[in-house]
Amino acid sequence: MSSLPNLVVSGCLLGEKVRYNGTHKHEPLIVELFKEQFNIVSICPEVEMGLGVPRPPMHLEKSENNSLLKVTHSTEDLTEVALSTSKRILDSLVFHGAILKSKSPSCGYKSVTLMGSHSMASGLFAQYIEDHNIPIIDENDLLDSSKVKNFQMKALSFFQKESL
Ligand code: SF4
Repeated sequence: MSSLPNLVVSGCLLGEKVRYNGTHKHEPLIVELFKEQFNIVSICPEVEMGLGVPRPPMHLEKSENNSLLKVTHSTEDLTEVALSTSKRILDSLVFHGAILKSKSPSCGYKSVTLMGSHSMASGLFAQYIEDHNIPIIDENDLLDSSKVKNFQMKALSFFQKESL
């Protein structure tokens, strides 16, 4: 095991041009704030799903028991592949925290408009991570030092427990 905890970060926040339209959402604060204490690992779940760049936009839709990941202006349902990809990522990489891009139907953490309801939801990758009790924040939390500190403490404590 690495001597530092692994921190998964949405690839687009690290400046990688992996968004559906070939752009990024670089947030330089992430490396600045976390590079000393964490091993930063870039992941784009939609690229991991084999969707490529560019790709059609997607959204979350409400279903009876969960959220569905649908291609916008299409009937294509990518929920199963999103869930199996999330499982594959978690099975192959041990990580102790995640900084995820807000509002994305894959990465958004409690910030995604759920079509067919009046509520917000988490993207499918974010939801899968949360279900495994891995601490998450998004890029909007980075300006709040108490949220950053709290997140760092949770991720470090998760790492310490795993190392025992
Ligand atoms: S938000 Fe997530 S899925 Fe979308 S481009 Fe960024 S890393 Fe990829």
